[in-house]
Amino acid sequence: MGLIVQKFGGSSVADAESIKRVAKRIVETRKAGHEVVVAVSAMGDTTDELLDLAHRVTLLPAPRELDMLLTAGERISMALLAMAIRSMGHDARSFTGSQAGMITDAQHGAARIVDVTPGRIREALDEGAIAIVAGFQGFSRDTRDITTLGRGGSDTTAVALAAALDADVCEIYTDVDGIFTSDPRMVPRARFIPRITSEEMLELAAAGAKVLHIRAVEYARRHGVTLHVRSSFNNKQGTIVYNPAGPGLDAKGAPVEEPVIAGVATDLGEAKITVVGVRDEPGKAAGIFTTVAGTGANIDMIVQNVSAASTGLTDISFTLPKSSAQTVLNALRAEGYTDLQHDDQIGKLSLVGAGMRTNAGVSAELFRALADAGINIEMISTSEIRISVVTRADSIKAAVTAVHTAFGLDAETEAVVYAGTGR
Ligand code: ASP
Ligand code: MG
Repeated sequence: MGLIVQKFGGSSVADAESIKRVAKRIVETRKAGHEVVVAVSAMGDTTDELLDLAHRVTLLPAPRELDMLLTAGERISMALLAMAIRSMGHDARSFTGSQAGMITDAQHGAARIVDVTPGRIREALDEGAIAIVAGFQGFSRDTRDITTLGRGGSDTTAVALAAALDADVCEIYTDVDGIFTSDPRMVPRARFIPRITSEEMLELAAAGAKVLHIRAVEYARRHGVTLHVRSSFNNKQGTIVYNPAGPGLDAKGAPVEEPVIAGVATDLGEAKITVVGVRDEPGKAAGIFTTVAGTGANIDMIVQNVSAASTGLTDISFTLPKSSAQTVLNALRAEGYTDLQHDDQIGKLSLVGAGMRTNAGVSAELFRALADAGINIEMISTSEIRISVVTRADSIKAAVTAVHTAFGLDAETEAVVYAGTGR
């Protein structure tokens, strides 16, 4: 007997029927003798719909009220799930984020967890109940307000609970069979990955893979939580995300041959800003990026062109989340940078694999595959185990398909996507 944390995403609890199906699954785990804590997302596209609604009421919803609104989504699903379980003859209790002890800082819409005090959850378990916790939300002690962890944050709720309760495993249930070499919605022949290191999963998540929230992977890595990503629509084995004991060693310390490429991720959520005609002299980049940093925006790629000899002027381009672009443009304008270009029709493709460390020629092969597909590369950046390129947004699907094939990642059959609108 152990303690299992299970997280169910929005597409797994999209309607009454799905909620009953998920309830059955939870009860089965309980019947197998385990203590069960569940983190649940809002039903289907509820969060997006609530966001749309807020934006129909006002262009700029107050962050505190927006969090109050969005956390209602998870309250609905947690209560329905608890009712469904109770009707099957098992004790279940739902808890909001604050009742569950998810203590965060005060940053609405992107709160960080600062403490987890799951006293009430432990109590419920001790009394034999199944605890259902609303995902993606917390409570700030400083402001005494309700917060949210950012889109997709329910994964992080589940991992934080697993760490705080010292769970044996954190199961993340979703609408595909596990982790694939690419998003099956984009690349139907994406191949299933049975095991992946948390290091590679982190890079994939950072590069736009949506199957796991990046902060959840980081949290799991830091606290030694094993993640098990699987489908809520069948009983297939799913993917284990594990912390290798050392480079090239598996969790038990046995040597493993790492595949060169773990996967190809895409991201259509970024925009590019170019500051035109910057003087090529010390302090210019520092000035620009100090201004950008002041907005709190997360910068991704940065490219500075060679300055034209005749003018001594250069352009500096960088990518950032689309949602931060307007704020950053305004901040730069206020600092006197008036010649700015804004491009929100870009797509980013990233190739990730720990084996890149010891394999030369991966970038050449990537650029060749894109060239053969007639796709222009606009920006390039690399890390130790990742190469990313920016292309036009409308060529990203062709790009990822070509690269997936070129690196021999295509599966024999098409992957199944069981639910979800991909919104
Ligand atoms: N419901 C929230 C969202 O859609 C949190 C989550 O699903 O993880 O972002
Ligand atoms: Mg969701």
